[in-house]
Amino acid sequence: MLIVMKADATDVQVEAVVRVIEGLGYKAHPMPGASRTAIGITGNPGAIDPSHFENLAGVAEAVRIIAGPCAVESRRQAFAVAEVVRRSGARFFRGGAFKPRTSPYAFQGLGEEGLKILADIRETYGLKIVSEALDEPGVDLVERYADMIQIGARSMQNFTLLRRVGKSSLPVLLKRGLSATLDEWLLAAEYIMAEGNYQVVLCERGIRTFSQHTRNTLDLAAIPAVRRISHLPVIVDPSHGTGKNFMVTPLARAAVAVGADGLIVEVHDSPNDALSDGAQALTLDQYERLVSEVRAIHEVIAPAPVG
Ligand code: PEP
Ligand code: MN
Repeated sequence: MLIVMKADATDVQVEAVVRVIEGLGYKAHPMPGASRTAIGITGNPGAIDPSHFENLAGVAEAVRIIAGPCAVESRRQAFAVAEVVRRSGARFFRGGAFKPRTSPYAFQGLGEEGLKILADIRETYGLKIVSEALDEPGVDLVERYADMIQIGARSMQNFTLLRRVGKSSLPVLLKRGLSATLDEWLLAAEYIMAEGNYQVVLCERGIRTFSQHTRNTLDLAAIPAVRRISHLPVIVDPSHGTGKNFMVTPLARAAVAVGADGLIVEVHDSPNDALSDGAQALTLDQYERLVSEVRAIHEVIAPAPVG
């Protein structure tokens, strides 16, 4: 594992990281570079949980990963996935309790019961919980149990809903609408901020095009485009962005390389049995591999802090 320090990290901060590594019983190898220092770790028998280092002063922020099943289906399923999400070093667990399904006959989510399971996951694993609200009463419920409110692609222009989450004290994950331009997406974010809630994270999740080889067309060019005109963090959802299991990891790698601030990835302990979005869900093993790959990519492209 390689820990990349911020460009302005001090020698004292580098030494502090070295002490933590040695305290874990491993060897630390500081490698001063032209603009920043990296610290190699050896002597570890297996993967190291990056959460040991992420919060230390001077460490460049690790890529944020929000992971979980499309929907909370049962306590057993949600906990099986959460266990692996925690182990991967991710901080956020996302599971839908209210699902916006194309067909009214499809599984609609467990509702408040699902939110209670998510709150138990927070209690057990210390993960922050993200869950979608479809309407204003749903926001009241999600606020009671979760740490972040997801506004789904289909709700991106539900302006009364945007105003409602704008009055919330929780951060909002705002997914791009299925056919939204960049301006429409950013104006949707402004609906939220105009009510006083500035904690908005944008999420590119693919748009409708004529292409048929993917469920949606993941618009990775949106990432540098957003970063040029907005201060808001922008993350990428390669799961809905492709709809296909075998494409999720390659597009997750690309998303990190193109400068996304984070990823949201759907994971299931048994994708074939999933009640929603099984075709795009990663298995637990695939998810763990994805995390180590994108962290490695992030370490080499992590931009110097601005300002
Ligand atoms: C989801 O996150 O499971 C979901 C329904 O996403 P989207 O709103 O992007 O379709
Ligand atoms: Mn989904």
